[in-house]
Parts: sequence; C-alpha cells; structure tokens
Amino acid sequence: MSFEQIARHLDAYRNEMIDLQVKLAAIPAISPASGGEGEAKKADFLVGFLKANGFQDIEVIKAPDFDAPAGYRPNILAYYRGRSSARTIWVMSHTDVVPPGELSLWSGDPFRPWVEGGKIYGRGVEDNQQDMVASIFAVKAFHDLGLKPAYDVGLALVADEETGSDKGLGYVLQQSKAFRRGDLILVPDAGNEDGTMIEIAEKSILWLKFKTLGKQTHGSMPERGINAFKAACFLAAELDGLYKEFPLSDPVFDPPISTFEPTKKECNVPNINTIPGEDVFFMDCRILPQYKVDDVKARIRQAADAVEARFKVKIAIEDQQNAPAAPPTPAKAAVVAALEKAVKAVYGKEGKAMGIGGGTVAALFRREGFDAACWSRLDETAHQPNEYCIIDNMVGDAKVFAHIFLQE
Ligand SMILES: [Zn+2]
Repeated sequence: MSFEQIARHLDAYRNEMIDLQVKLAAIPAISPASGGEGEAKKADFLVGFLKANGFQDIEVIKAPDFDAPAGYRPNILAYYRGRSSARTIWVMSHTDVVPPGELSLWSGDPFRPWVEGGKIYGRGVEDNQQDMVASIFAVKAFHDLGLKPAYDVGLALVADEETGSDKGLGYVLQQSKAFRRGDLILVPDAGNEDGTMIEIAEKSILWLKFKTLGKQTHGSMPERGINAFKAACFLAAELDGLYKEFPLSDPVFDPPISTFEPTKKECNVPNINTIPGEDVFFMDCRILPQYKVDDVKARIRQAADAVEARFKVKIAIEDQQNAPAAPPTPAKAAVVAALEKAVKAVYGKEGKAMGIGGGTVAALFRREGFDAACWSRLDETAHQPNEYCIIDNMVGDAKVFAHIFLQE
C-alpha cells in the first residue's frame, strides 16, 4: 500500500471530516473556570465516534472537578494497534475551547459552524479540532483500508488545555504510564501558514514589577524630596545592559537572543509640578533556556541595589510571572525527523525546528523527559471572533499524520 493510496482515501473523507467538525463545534466544551460545563458531553460523543471507526483500547481518565456538572474532566486515550508495540506514535489534541467572546464580532453563531470559501467557521474549529479531526481520520484511513501502521498509534484527546492543563495533560501524566521514552509525541496546537514550523523549544518567561519609593515634593524644590521616577528611569536604562550580560544566541529561536524589555508604566503623580515619591514600571524578559532565570534575577537585583545607593530610594522587585522553560526537544529527535519527512512529502516544503517566546502544552511532556514537537498548518485564528479552519489544511494535516504512521 503506497502513501498515495492513503492520501487519495483521505481526500475522499473531506465531507465526513467537515461533518465531524460541525458536530464537535456544536457541543461547547468550555472550562468551568471560563464559565462553561467542561468537556464531558463532547468526550462522550467522541468516544462513540472512535469506537465506530476502528479504535481499540479506549480509556477515559477522569480528573475530578466539582465545578463541572459531570463532576470530572475527561481525558481520552485511544489506540490503533500497529505491527509493533515497541513504541507509540502519539497525536495529542485538546477538546476544550475558549469562550466565544463578544458575539457581535462574529458573523454567525460560534456554536453553529458554517462553511464558506473553503473554510469552516466556528469556535474551536481551528483550536484544536482541525488536527483532532485530522488525526482521527488518518487512523480511520488505515482501518478502512485494513492496514496496520508500523507502530501503535495513540490519540490523546485531553481536557483543560486552555486553563492550565491541571485537569488535562497534567493529570494524565500523573495518573497514567501510557507515554514512554521512545514514543513520538506530536502536539498539533501551534504552527504557521505554510506548515514549516516545528516547535521544539521555548524561552523562559520572566515578568517583573519594579516599585521605586522616594519622597514626594514640589516640582520647584527637588532637593527637598527624592525623585522616584528619575531613579526608576536610570534603572530601566541600566537594565538594557542585560542584553550584553546574557548575550548567547540560538538560531532555533526568532529572535535568536534573550530579550529584556521595560514595558508597562503605571501613572505616578497627576500633575506636572509635583516630583513623584513613588514609581512603578514592569519588564518582560524572554530568556533562552541556556540561562537560569535566577541568574538573571540576581543581576537585576544588583542593578537595583546600585540605583538604591546612588539615589537613596527603595526598590521592591516582584515576580508577576516566572515560568522557567522546559528542556528543549533536540532538533535531531525522531519526532522532528518524522515530521520533516512527512511535511516534505505532503506539502513539498522543508520543515524547520524552531523555538518560540512563550509556553505551549508540550512543555509538560518535556519537563517529564519526553521529546514532543508542536506542529500544524494553520492561520492562527485561535481565540478570535470568526475563528476558522482551512479545510485543505485539515485534510493535508491528516495526510502528514498518515505519512508518519506509515514510516518504519
Ligand atoms: Zn489550543
């Protein structure tokens, strides 16, 4: 059986894939933390569909959640057995969706999806149903053709991705031994328009609040007070030196360097002729995984100490977010090579292993020592009004998964 035959089969599923998308999007699976019921109804429907379409050994791992009417958040693991069980090729997608947001910004009902110009519109159709449906039909093609993939294929359809994954992948990783070191783990929940981005690494995120205390006084009498704003300006300028002190460059990332930027500024005094006694600004740092966040923080504290001594101010530094990066998946990992081959065969493009500036759910796998790659071909309409899925991307991504299942 050649890949071309499977690909033709997947083309023939196009309308069935659209149908499944429409049915899934009609079951709003919003997390209780965002005001919804959770994913139980959508999961029940999915389990029925998986059973009817060749999946074996379907397990639902229920994370207790008394805020959800069902009392739990469902995480589905479903297998399609291959010729060897030495490893499992995993595709993980998430069943939950974010709320629709301002309804007047939508051209239709976000939970009654519509098809127009080669796209399906509705909440969740891209994030993350596009590749959930693609992965289900990639397996269905093997089943309908009576084919066995080289290795077991596993689909993980998890809950709670949009609100932290504690009751989703985080819970599954605690409860289950399903994932093994040699497995290939694909997380099709990030990507770019031509399907060339294979995300394998992330930077640490450090957000800081700087509160500088001086002494308020009249604008004409600066010697009677201490200008907190002026001291804070010196500190912000001094912190630009972090670029020189943490200069490593890693071509996997765009931009390839760590970044240290002052961002938000709170108002201080409301009038021009008062010298502010208090000043607050914030900083957003995205730090390469090669550096320790604590080393950056220590250097920032040193700079603040110097400004305190020079201006006789007090500077309090507070974490707003401190998310150290997970260890990267190596660019030579098997999952990356498999994706590169499949992307080349299906889309005719060279995939590129890349890092991004923020976190993805794949970090949970990486922290546990599993190689995981995020990949998909998408327009990044996730979380927006009129979210859409390009139908060709859904069918194309199904071919990419099928290609990987076929690889020896
Ligand atoms: Zn997502």
